[in-house]
Amino acid sequence: MSKPGRAVTVVGLGPMGRQIVRTYLAAGVAVTAWNRTPEKAHGLGAHRADSISDAVAAAELIVLSLTHYDAMDAVLGDIDLTGKVVVNLSSDSPRRTREGAAFVRARGGEFLAGGVMAQPQELAGPSAYIFYSGPRAVFEAQRELLRPLASTEYLGADDGAAQVYYQAMLALFLPLLLGYEQALAIIERSGSEIARFLPYAQRSLGSVGDLYAAWAGMVEQGGSADPAYLRMMAAGARHVVETGTAVGVDTVLAESVSSYWKRAVGASASTFQVLRG
Ligand code: NDP
Repeated sequence: MSKPGRAVTVVGLGPMGRQIVRTYLAAGVAVTAWNRTPEKAHGLGAHRADSISDAVAAAELIVLSLTHYDAMDAVLGDIDLTGKVVVNLSSDSPRRTREGAAFVRARGGEFLAGGVMAQPQELAGPSAYIFYSGPRAVFEAQRELLRPLASTEYLGADDGAAQVYYQAMLALFLPLLLGYEQALAIIERSGSEIARFLPYAQRSLGSVGDLYAAWAGMVEQGGSADPAYLRMMAAGARHVVETGTAVGVDTVLAESVSSYWKRAVGASASTFQVLRG
């Protein structure tokens, strides 16, 4: 049963948007849903709007979950957004997000950007959180209605800030995932068992928090450009390439990693300095 006055519109019903709808409904919030492909709204239990105009009219808070910000422009078009708060939880670049904020304000609406740090099934769970950025007063006014989705991490008035943090987290996560798969491929191709390797991979995560803290402090001083350290790491990175090559694993990732140590040695600079440019 929804509580009076607690209503949202959700636009975009991919895996994330559908879970946003379910999460709001479970929290007793009345939901109106709209999607370009209308069939995806079936069976969710939300009120289905016949048009995007009807969807926007149905609530003050409009939550968008789309593939990118171009989709927001395409969906909202020239709709008058006066009195509406658009919270876009779609991924995109910080620059595109700032443009999207201007797009919404030019149509009379308030805007917040969000970056969802959870998979759909994790929404409302203990580990889920969402980065938000945009005007503080707008965030504070909507905080209670955003809270059922995940805990909130407000990053400030710069509309692009949520995407800076979201993309930085992806920059961290995507190579981690690929590096893990690369390790598993080396194990499997070498005739060993992934299950046997798993505990060692898990054990390596135990100290990552401390490593991040130590590295952050070092990087603030420019990172380590100690020649002996760089040469040792460059050799280690090269050995990963050689090991992968020997067992037939794709080495594009390993070659790329190795190239950073090689460049660092050549420039007598830390890998952080090479990356930062
Ligand atoms: P998608 O990124 O595939 O988003 C699909 C939604 O975008 C659908 O509703 C689709 O409509 C709509 N869409 C795409 N292009 C257009 C367009 N030009 N005009 C109108 N509608 C359009 O799936 P997700 O739900 O997984 O992700 C939504 C957002 O959440 C993304 O930005 C994603 O990066 C982010 N996110 C997703 C996570 C996940 O694990 N899924 C985790 C964290 C963030 P239609 O159905 O008609 O095609």
